[in-house]
Amino acid sequence: MAQQQSTVVITGTSSGVGLYAAKAFAKRGWHVVMGCRDIPKTKAAAQSVGILEDSYTVIHLDLGSLESVRQFVKDFRATGRHLDALVCNAAIYMPLLKEPLRSPEGYELTMATNHLGHFLLCNLMLEDLKKSPAADKRLVILGTVTHNPDELGGKIPPRPDLGNLEGFAARFKAPISMIDGKKFEPVKAYKDSKVCNVLTMRELHRRYHDSTGITFTSLYPGCVADTPLFRNHYPLFQKLFPLFQKHITGGYVSQELAGERVAAVVIDPEYKQSGAYWSWGNRQKKDGKSFVQKVSPQARDDEKAQKMWDLSEKLVGIGVTV
Ligand code: NAP
Repeated sequence: MAQQQSTVVITGTSSGVGLYAAKAFAKRGWHVVMGCRDIPKTKAAAQSVGILEDSYTVIHLDLGSLESVRQFVKDFRATGRHLDALVCNAAIYMPLLKEPLRSPEGYELTMATNHLGHFLLCNLMLEDLKKSPAADKRLVILGTVTHNPDELGGKIPPRPDLGNLEGFAARFKAPISMIDGKKFEPVKAYKDSKVCNVLTMRELHRRYHDSTGITFTSLYPGCVADTPLFRNHYPLFQKLFPLFQKHITGGYVSQELAGERVAAVVIDPEYKQSGAYWSWGNRQKKDGKSFVQKVSPQARDDEKAQKMWDLSEKLVGIGVTV
């Protein structure tokens, strides 16, 4: 019966890691609630990888719009399902932009989609997770190697730098487009947003793990170099990047394996370690061992995490009123 079946909400399942994570969850008997901005595309994608219709529900969600996030939560609640896990997966990466795009609220779109939308979603759905009768509840946010300049994959410039969050403190609207208040740099905007994702996970853990028992984690599933994440890059990059990751760095991971890793971090007992950031050694291999990886100096800066949290609350309209 639907009410007894474990339910996971995942954002961004129309392609890539999210789609294959949905497939892995469905295979493991979970019901998947997909938060996506293009419902027909998502249904076609689910069908293309063989996810059975009765194992998922698609609900409209545009993470770039705070109103849409709030509506998504209302629509989820109207299904009457309990929430056992939330996976924040969706992201945009637009490396060739010359000028920033803006969310309906006026925020730079990469940060708005990848961080602010998920930040609001996590805060709202925390209440749903608390209410679930399940003994083991988890909230997982996708990370990436590029958040971390201490790792080889994170050394390529531009490096993420949140500065003192001057851009957030100044309300993050035009002409401001970067969290540090500096000049617009689309690749850095993506990396900064992924640092915010890790800070959010760590701050959720610090604030709520003891009182709720919820496990908060992040993971870097490996370089899933052939997902549509790179669709806004030069065509030549899209062709060469997977080959480079497969044959030169060895960091390449298939979409199927990345999806299985996401589901494992949500379901398997060995990943029930709140505050952990999971990574895999020998990333391409199915039997490559997972381990808890140290996050970047910025992402483990507790003072920065608290500041990011307070300012993000203001930007999304929760907590202290602006
Ligand atoms: P992807 O195939 O482009 O998937 C991104 C998903 O996010 C798509 O379903 C997309 O849906 C959705 N999305 C984008 N904007 C949205 C919005 N405003 N509202 C709701 N959904 C939205 O990329 P991916 O590689 O699978 O990336 C998934 C996650 O893995 C990201 O968090 C990324 O940072 C992380 N990651 C990826 C890699 C990698 O190598 N690919 C490595 C490490 C971590 P639409 O169809 O509507 O665009």
